[in-house]
Amino acid sequence: MKECNFYAGPSILDNGIVSKAIKQISNRENLSVLEISHRSDKIVSLFEDTKSMVRDLMNLDKTKEVLFLHGGASLQFAMIPLNIKGNGDAGFIDTGIWSKKAIIEAKKVRNVSIVGSSRDDLYNYIPKIEDYDLSALDYLHLTSNNTIYGTQFFEFPKCETPLVVDMSSDVLSRKLNFNDFDLIFAGFQKNLGTTGGSLVVLDKSILKEGNEDELLSMLDYKVHIKAKSMFNTPSVFSVLMCNLTLKWIMEQGGIDVIEERNQVKAEMLYNEIERNGLFYSYVNKRDRSLMNVCFDTDNEKIEADFLAFCNEQNIIGIKGHRSRGGFRASLYNSMPLESVEYLIDRMKLFEKRYARKGI
Ligand code: PMP
Repeated sequence: MKECNFYAGPSILDNGIVSKAIKQISNRENLSVLEISHRSDKIVSLFEDTKSMVRDLMNLDKTKEVLFLHGGASLQFAMIPLNIKGNGDAGFIDTGIWSKKAIIEAKKVRNVSIVGSSRDDLYNYIPKIEDYDLSALDYLHLTSNNTIYGTQFFEFPKCETPLVVDMSSDVLSRKLNFNDFDLIFAGFQKNLGTTGGSLVVLDKSILKEGNEDELLSMLDYKVHIKAKSMFNTPSVFSVLMCNLTLKWIMEQGGIDVIEERNQVKAEMLYNEIERNGLFYSYVNKRDRSLMNVCFDTDNEKIEADFLAFCNEQNIIGIKGHRSRGGFRASLYNSMPLESVEYLIDRMKLFEKRYARKGI
């Protein structure tokens, strides 16, 4: 039995994407993209093609810039507060570790206001921020999907204030009006391929005006825009994987089809968690993520036994994040329906065995 990969990231890649990458690299007749200059036509067109697919899939306005940068999503935590204009506060919705890490970086360079937080209930819900006056903020930063706690924004604040969204764990998993956001960023390693890069989509109008020499070059979006994501040697392999992943999304029928599948997979699993007498979901129903299904059991022995059982059954990466415990099944775009059905089947079997023997 093939291993079913439920890791939260780096995470599952569709077999077709991996085969195409291997084919491209293993053809020794022609030089592969891994061993030629990034100034060559082949790499320049790989980047242009990848950018144009991002534009198409997100239906982006011409005013949006698309960048592929190194440093993962965490580098964006540092670059954003350095680059966005204004002398007021940067606002944050605190929905857990990834927003906290962004807050820590922002505080090093500007004032920060916490607009809402779900810390009081171990981040198991998305806080409401209606009462907060956002107009005084330079920008508002939120994490659309909280990989560790399994919460997701299904409604976004409507405001004139520039919106910055960390979409690392749900980018291109559902239809959104991507033009509503002033800056979107996402590490590649979940829905955009593999590690080593991140996507940034931004509106230049939110950036600080002034000379390029005011910021360290590598931390300056304007420098990367001018250099078309090739200010220095880019992470070509990660862009190749992103390219193949975007092509795969298009071949599947685009985001509409992907979203429908994601809804079906998540709903099936949440239904089983509700039904199964051994498990429960601790996430507020309205805010349950379609990408990271987090659940738990109230007995430490059952937790250890279920993890061991999953291991035996080739269900990999189901252990919850170390800060939260319990279980987490990540159902990114590439996750096949059959793997979710298989997990559900094993949850049922585990429940039966437990009822018989008390494990
Ligand atoms: N934001 C979110 C929502 C994440 O899930 C992660 C990583 N799991 C990060 C940011 C950090 O990403 P990276 O490791 O690429 O810096």
